[in-house]
Amino acid sequence: MTEVRSFCRACLNSCPTIVEVEYGRLLRVRGDKTNDIWDGYTCIKGRAQPDLHAHPNRVLHHLKRVDDGFVRVGADAATAEIAAKLRTIIDTHGPRSVAYYGATGVAQSPLTDPFFGALMRAVGSPMRFSPNSIDKPGRHLARALHGAWMAPLQGYQDPDVALLIGANPYRTYYGAAAGNPGRWLSQRLDEGMELLVIDPRRSDVAKRASLHLQPRPGHDVEILACLIHVLLAEDLIDHEFVAENAEGLEDLRRAVARCTPEAVAGWADVAPESLVELARRFARAGRGYIACGVGPGFSNSSTLVEYLVLVLETLTGHWLRAGEVVDRVPTLLPAGPYFAQAQSPKPAWGLGIEMGFAGLTQTSAGLPTGTLAEEILQQGHKKVRALICVGGNPVLSWPDQTRVLEALRDLELLVVVDPFMTPTAREAHYVIAPPLPYETPGMTLLQDHIINTPTFYGPAEAWAQYTDAVVDPPAGSDVLPEWEFAYDLARELGVPLELGAMSVTPDAPAVGIKVDMVNKPTAEESLASLAVGSRVPLDEVKRHPSGSTFPSPSLRVGAKQDGWSGRFDIANSSMMGDLAAAVERSDAAEDDHGFPFRLIMIREQNQFNSTLNDPIMNRNRFHNPAYMHPEDLADLALRPGDPVTISSRRSHIRAIVEAEPNLRRGLVAMSFAYGGPPETDDAFREVGSPPSRLLTLADFADPHVGMPRIGDIPVAVERLAAH
Ligand code: SF4
Repeated sequence: MTEVRSFCRACLNSCPTIVEVEYGRLLRVRGDKTNDIWDGYTCIKGRAQPDLHAHPNRVLHHLKRVDDGFVRVGADAATAEIAAKLRTIIDTHGPRSVAYYGATGVAQSPLTDPFFGALMRAVGSPMRFSPNSIDKPGRHLARALHGAWMAPLQGYQDPDVALLIGANPYRTYYGAAAGNPGRWLSQRLDEGMELLVIDPRRSDVAKRASLHLQPRPGHDVEILACLIHVLLAEDLIDHEFVAENAEGLEDLRRAVARCTPEAVAGWADVAPESLVELARRFARAGRGYIACGVGPGFSNSSTLVEYLVLVLETLTGHWLRAGEVVDRVPTLLPAGPYFAQAQSPKPAWGLGIEMGFAGLTQTSAGLPTGTLAEEILQQGHKKVRALICVGGNPVLSWPDQTRVLEALRDLELLVVVDPFMTPTAREAHYVIAPPLPYETPGMTLLQDHIINTPTFYGPAEAWAQYTDAVVDPPAGSDVLPEWEFAYDLARELGVPLELGAMSVTPDAPAVGIKVDMVNKPTAEESLASLAVGSRVPLDEVKRHPSGSTFPSPSLRVGAKQDGWSGRFDIANSSMMGDLAAAVERSDAAEDDHGFPFRLIMIREQNQFNSTLNDPIMNRNRFHNPAYMHPEDLADLALRPGDPVTISSRRSHIRAIVEAEPNLRRGLVAMSFAYGGPPETDDAFREVGSPPSRLLTLADFADPHVGMPRIGDIPVAVERLAAH
């Protein structure tokens, strides 16, 4: 038995691991206790990797649909057949009839997305989709509308206050520095950081907060506007910073005038005093940050929520200033220069191509994935006819499952790259079997890219790790790395690949990396090509097999450049219009007659969400509990464990209720991206229940980014008869 130092690639927390290997097989994965940041932290998903590698249901051979199921097909034959079909579709319908969806699974290798992106560019299709336009898309749009600071937020750098809105770092590793989120929070709390939480659920992190607001869901916009209102009314803003770097203060004051603590307290069902107190504590603390999880964006306009968050950060001056060291710098990408100055806003939508559905466009968060089903089903020349889906499960994770299934079944070609036969893979014409992460080399390039975005994933300081492949794929398997599949398709199609460079500044010119289309590069060579120009040479990172911090004390924020005239816009007219509309909606309570509960989406620790519902993680709980407050259950004469029907205006699902006293009353909380297609409805105890079926593509939470409403869904709950 040997021990190999590596890191987990099952999520963006990138835990350093020690992997025990025997006879070429993974035996056990454990956290690396010698690491000061992670301190040996791993989660059950990371520790389950050996079981996943050896799982009897793992897809080890490529599959091709035939009349009565799937048959094995070799990699060369599959690639040639798929390329031929793509060529026919492109010749008949044009390049934009081919779409690519690179989902969360692409994060397991930094090569996957660059190679598929290059393939799409090479065939001339702009139809690249990602979860970016569903998972907190507003961060990208808000940054464009508000303007970007040319240095990072204070963020995790010595925070005096953290305001988490619908975010739970214990589950998502978002909102506390990557590593061991609980330990990081404890250390900050010991140092005196104030933790403020807004969440309709008393979550793990809310229990540690000094102040927790537990509002009705769907009112984050008005709450944020109220915090701004209090800051302005009580003169709690950083006047010097705002005067020098922002414009629109008086327009902003007028726009939030109706969001008084009393009015918002009525809409959100919280005490007005707690809104005032939260605003004061946030503004008076000094340094800090606000992290919004998916919850606020699922049920409100993600763009408006994140825009108001940026306005609050600017009003309190939460941006690194001239002379400060930048702790969170990229390592495997170029870094800096940084300046204490604002870039003026730029368009957030109307970029690139126009979609065929609902007048949507490309935005700074990408194309609208939430409505891709409509792009497939619509009539006309913009119809999508082929979809390559990598590392994702749209049947469970895109809104409106019924419409999504209809769309996938309408495609002329659906190729799914996935190590398991998910409900989406079962709809595919071809399933390509990829390796699992410990079977490939990897490096923390995506994490560097993400801290540039910026988001609240990733460590508080510059960190990098490289790992060789730890084991070979199982003997006799045909697995093909995702990037190689893209490369082989390009070769079959006769198109050259040029990888897009990742860069610190969004406006930096793309420097293409030409791929050798005669002699296929190795994975190691391809990784090295993506790290060209990195702040720290890849060879230096490789010298630290356990990973390392790579601080750069000399990389400081420069003073504002002479003649610089960029300024933030803290009262963007479109956002202020959206705010006024949100207030109007609050005044006229939504007609939810017949649907007295609100469904919100949560994440649970022991689930691989959409990938695999299996005892290696779910501890033999296969169903997707519908959590409700015990008093709501009592009012409905239900007991924990009872089967129910949950209905929305769109559809209904069956589920099993469980008691959750930490929820507000009036809510139903379920894990998203769960369950199966309608054919499995009778087996809801064994397969789980899919909340995506309760959503409709006709109801946008965020019209700018084309994001359907995913949270705060009006639903009814009834006992399921005869079960
Ligand atoms: S938190 Fe879990 S899944 Fe994520 S990197 Fe760590 S061990 Fe892997």
